[in-house]
Amino acid sequence: MSASLFTTLFLVALGLYTAIQLWLAGRHIQHVSVNRSKVPPAFANKIELTAHQKAADYTLAKTSLERIEIVLGAVILLVWTLGGGLQWLDSIWGSSGLAPLWTGTAFLLSLFALLSLIDIPMSIYRTFTLEERFGFNRTTVKTFITDQLKQFLLLIVIGTPLIAAVLWLMNNMGTYWWVWVWAVWTGFGLLMMWAYPAFIAPLFNKFNPLEDGPLKQRIQDLMTRCGFTSNGIFIIDGSRRSGHGNAYFTGLGQNKRIVFFDTLIESLSTDEIEAVLAHELGHFKRKHIIKRIISMAIFSLAGLALLGWLITQNWFYNGLGVASPSLHTALALFLIALPVFTFLLHPLSSWFSRKHEFEADAYAAEVSSATSLTQALVKLYEENANTLTPDPLYSAFHDSHPPAAVRIAHLNS
Ligand SMILES: [Zn+2]
Repeated sequence: MSASLFTTLFLVALGLYTAIQLWLAGRHIQHVSVNRSKVPPAFANKIELTAHQKAADYTLAKTSLERIEIVLGAVILLVWTLGGGLQWLDSIWGSSGLAPLWTGTAFLLSLFALLSLIDIPMSIYRTFTLEERFGFNRTTVKTFITDQLKQFLLLIVIGTPLIAAVLWLMNNMGTYWWVWVWAVWTGFGLLMMWAYPAFIAPLFNKFNPLEDGPLKQRIQDLMTRCGFTSNGIFIIDGSRRSGHGNAYFTGLGQNKRIVFFDTLIESLSTDEIEAVLAHELGHFKRKHIIKRIISMAIFSLAGLALLGWLITQNWFYNGLGVASPSLHTALALFLIALPVFTFLLHPLSSWFSRKHEFEADAYAAEVSSATSLTQALVKLYEENANTLTPDPLYSAFHDSHPPAAVRIAHLNS
């Protein structure tokens, strides 16, 4: 393939990627606006009109911002690739006099740091304007700044050895380096899943063990019923940053934890909390977590095999604005340009995720109560101002959870 042909392919893919996303967002805005005036019949006596309209307005504001981000993202990608951004960064580190391994590591670390720096203005707008306007923001300027600094330090501490190891393997393991990189990458992913709840999440939130009492008793009974052991039930101070509530289940092996946001504990009854937890346990019991790990491992092996071939093709570099091929520019191009070519797989992953949500709901109905879970979901939809009327196509493409009406109808069937 010639470089100019690949440039054309890239531009066509980026055009499609941008146009399809803008079109879906436009449909979503249209659909939510049309349904703003009336609570959907299935929720008529469960949710007030004012709450429904708040959810509509919040969704409209978020989706409008999303449209700006789609366009900005395309412009930024063009600047990094055809605009010569990566070439510029490469020439800066190229003249640093560092050994090749460290030149490559510094190049990638600075690229990731710049990418997240570019993201900060949007993040400020989202936190302090959009979330603030709908009453969800609890983040102070101080928390925001310390969060950014902690993330930057994590990038350096975790990113440096990982990137250096990957570049070293690419350079020293011959034609099949990508199998080695895959093994390291997968091992790293598992290590992070294990380490995240115990070592990283506590850098950002306080984890307090759930106090003894009727709620803890209910939760322990449920876990015994389901044959589930964990390394504790915790409440985190999610309210330090946001009014949105959530519950999740994290960690691997001995480090499994159940985590509730304090905001969720405040708004749900004991029955409802039990049902939400039963849903989370459902993900574990129906082996969704292991399935996700396996499918991610398969996709990353395929991706790395593809990179193993691309790295030897000059058009891959020249067609994306990089004059001199190198291991680190190949990695950078691959990471930033790949989504443009693979985004049509996104609906497939959303579909699997929604299928898993239905299965976890069914499990919760079996071991806890469908009625309590329905009540909890209605409350959570209302409190998080999630729209009840998403555009069906937008939702099918993006949503990891089924739309409220479909999900609740399914639960009660
Ligand atoms: Zn779920």
